[in-house]
Amino acid sequence: MKSPRFFWSANFHKESFESARVRLTIIYTLILTAVLIFFSMIIYGFAMSEVYDRVKDVRIQLREEYAFLMQPETVIVIDTDALNKARKNIILRLVAANSLILLVTALGSYYLAGRTLYPIHQMTLRQQEFIANASHELRTPLTAIMTSNEVALRDPQLNLASAKETIKDSLDEASRLQRLIHNLLLLASAESEVEIPTQVVELHHLVNASIAKVQNKAQEKNILITNQTEAISATLNPDLTIEVLVILLENAIKYSSAGQQVQVQAQTRKQHTLLTVTDQGIGISKTDQQYLFERFYRAEASRSSEGFGLGLAIAQQLMQLQGGQISVQSRPGKGSTFTLTFLNL
Ligand code: ADP
Repeated sequence: MKSPRFFWSANFHKESFESARVRLTIIYTLILTAVLIFFSMIIYGFAMSEVYDRVKDVRIQLREEYAFLMQPETVIVIDTDALNKARKNIILRLVAANSLILLVTALGSYYLAGRTLYPIHQMTLRQQEFIANASHELRTPLTAIMTSNEVALRDPQLNLASAKETIKDSLDEASRLQRLIHNLLLLASAESEVEIPTQVVELHHLVNASIAKVQNKAQEKNILITNQTEAISATLNPDLTIEVLVILLENAIKYSSAGQQVQVQAQTRKQHTLLTVTDQGIGISKTDQQYLFERFYRAEASRSSEGFGLGLAIAQQLMQLQGGQISVQSRPGKGSTFTLTFLNL
């Protein structure tokens, strides 16, 4: 379901992810090389001073053992080849050990750099996808407004009726834009919030308040919404929960046929309270259910109806802000049940 725009940017990001990973690996390895060189020099210094100490000992020993052969001014010459060989050996061993350490740590760094960058990479991808989708959705109504107005302006025989038609279409597109911008702002503000106050709320009134907000749309389609939530309370944020319920009820209306019914029910369990919105509408396939809560995702079956695919993503974020969850159960052709879970505190 990825757009070509997104595919291009995903590839671009894959390349920049790889190059960032390699760069990070090089940085890790360079730092380690500097540390290894520093310690190798210290080890080399110690090893060579050990060698010279041994040479000194040997000189003393020789002088003691062969004192009867030597004059006080006799100089004991040590084989410099052997000394050089010892030095070479120390250097060779240090180089071999360091190369091995560097090789192992370069591989380890590559792996660690991947693990460090992966969440950032995923976040960037999601952000990129979101921006691509949002710009596409914003551009579509704008293009429609511009095109219809340009055509109307160029028409020398434009009469009042067609002018009104063009204005009406433009207003429809403008209100679509307004809704989209409202949704985008809601998502952005929900993302920046950290903690939201919750309180114990009686569900029946809350559900009634939500139903009242969608009643006109329900009546237009002759859909009856029933509230079966008497005498149950939950710990939640009332404003956010009403937003979520309105999203679910609007969807239930949108994806149901005229004359069908929608039910809102509640159940209390030991540790949580469940609030469900059930419709008898078109239902959702198992495959679509996996992606429903992603931003801009719309199931193929619902493309003909109006929407941006942002409602459920917003609902999920608003639920998470209250420490709650949202889930779906559905069968294509039979209807869907969306469940809100609130923790009993
Ligand atoms: P929108 O409804 O604006 O497309 P949503 O994020 O609210 O966006 O929903 C995402 C998709 O989930 C919809 O496009 C639709 O395919 C599916 N969906 C949501 N609610 C229902 C429902 N009650 N019945 C059937 N499909 C639904």
